[in-house]
Amino acid sequence: MLVTKGTEVCVYCAGAGYLQLVLWGTETCPCCHGTGKVKNKR
Ligand SMILES: [Zn+2]
Repeated sequence: MLVTKGTEVCVYCAGAGYLQLVLWGTETCPCCHGTGKVKNKR
């Protein structure tokens, strides 16, 4: 079991920073704002 220290990978975009859309291509992840990582829950 791997434990990431500090930042966690965004589960919404799987750390990609963007969402893969079938029809529109890609969109910046609204959850992590393109960083691919989430520091803490707000
Ligand atoms: Zn994200």
